Amino acid sequence: MSEKRTDHVVVVGGGVVGLSVAWRAAAAGNRVSLVDPEPASGASYVAGGMLAPLAEAWPGEEELLELGSTSLTRWPGFAEELSCAAGLPSGLRTEGTLMIGVDGADREELDNVSGHLAGLGRSVTRLTGREVRKREPVLGPSVRGGLEIPGDLAVDNRMALTALQAAAKASGVEFVRERAERVRPGAVELAESTVECDVAVISAGAHSGSLHPALAGTIRPVKGEILRLRKRATALPPPTRTVRGPVRGRPCYLVPRDDGGVVLGATQHEVGFDTEVTVAGVRDLLADAETVMPGIAEYTLLEATAGLRPSTADNLPVIGWLEPGVLAATGHHRGGFLLTPVTVDAVLALLRGDDPGALIKATDPSRLGGQQ
Ligand code: FAD
Repeated sequence: MSEKRTDHVVVVGGGVVGLSVAWRAAAAGNRVSLVDPEPASGASYVAGGMLAPLAEAWPGEEELLELGSTSLTRWPGFAEELSCAAGLPSGLRTEGTLMIGVDGADREELDNVSGHLAGLGRSVTRLTGREVRKREPVLGPSVRGGLEIPGDLAVDNRMALTALQAAAKASGVEFVRERAERVRPGAVELAESTVECDVAVISAGAHSGSLHPALAGTIRPVKGEILRLRKRATALPPPTRTVRGPVRGRPCYLVPRDDGGVVLGATQHEVGFDTEVTVAGVRDLLADAETVMPGIAEYTLLEATAGLRPSTADNLPVIGWLEPGVLAATGHHRGGFLLTPVTVDAVLALLRGDDPGALIKATDPSRLGGQQ
C-alpha cells in the first residue's frame, strides 16, 4: 500500500455515496469538506434500501451483478464500522428477499431470473404459491409462485443516513451548506466563493452531470415514486423480509422496517428532473401492494415521495478520475445503497494512489464518452 497522497478532499454532494466517502476519507486522515446545501435530501432519502443484487440480476448486466455481489459481502462490515463510528444503529436487516409472481407472465419472469442465476452458478429456490405463503402467511392468494433469495440484505435508508452524518461529523468532516456550481482541478466553485482542495469528489447524484464537462450528458435522472406505510393496531403485521414482484408485469416491492413500517415502491419514469408524486403512481403502487398483501389496505399511508435515480447508459456507476484532482463517484442508478461499500473502497484506494482493483475497471468514466 502506498503512502497517503492527498490532504484536503472536498466531496460535492452528501447522499449515501458522498457522506460515506467523506466519513471514510476523514477517518483515513484526510482533511475533508462536504459541500451540499441540504445533505441527505436526494435519492438516498427516499430509497427503499434493498441490498439485492440477485433479485436485480439481468442478462447482459453481469459486471453490475459482480459489483453488487461483492458490495453485498462488504455490507455487514461496513454497517458495523458505521455503527461504531456514529454510536448509532446502521439499520441493516438480514432476513433476505422473497421474489413473487402473480400471473403466468410474472412466473415466466421468475423462471428467467432463476435460470439466468443458475447459469451463473448462483442457485435460488423456486417456490409454489403455497410455499411462498408458508414463509410469509400475510401474502394473499393471488401470489402464485416465488423465488427465495436468502442472502440479500436491506437497510433502513434514513437510519443509515443519520448514522453517516454522525460518523462524518465525529471524524471531523466540515459541512459547507452551499450548492456547488462547477468543479475543476484544485477548486470547487460555489455561487460567490471557491473552496480550494487537493482532490474534489463529485457525488451529487442525478445532478452530477452539470458539475464537470466529462460528466455532461452521461448521468440522467430516472424518477421513482415510493410510499411509506405504517401498521395500525388492528392490521396484520408486515412480511418479515423484503417481498418483491413482478405484479402483472409491474415492479413492486414491500420492504419491512424495524418499527412495523413498510416501504412500498417504486415507479420508474424518465421525465427529467420532475419530483412531483402523481395520482397514477400512488394508485398503481397501492393496487399492486394490495394484490400481494391484501391486509395492507388497513395500514396508514404516511408519505408519498419521489426521487431521482442517477443513471448511466449501461446502468453501471461512474467511479474514477475525470482528470487529475477530480474524481467521480456517481451514477449508481437503482443500487446506490447496495454499491456504497465497493464505491467507497475504490475511492479511498484512488485517493491513496493505489489500484482500486479489476472489478472497478468497468466503472471507468472514460467509457461513457463525456467531454474530456
Ligand atoms: P443522492 O442521494 O441523490 O444525493 C445527492 C446529493 O447531492 C443530495 O444531498 C443533493 O442535495 C446534493 N447535490 C445535488 N446537486 C448539488 C450541487 N450542485 N452542489 C452540492 N450538492 C449537490 N438503491 C438501492 O441500493 N436500494 C434500493 O432499494 C433503492 N431504492 C430506490 C428507490 C427509489 C424510489 C429511488 C429514487 C432510488 C432508489 N435507489 C435504491 C437508488 C439510490 O437511492 C441511489 O442510487 C442513491 O441514493 C444515489 O446516491 P447519491 O449519494 O449518489 O445521490
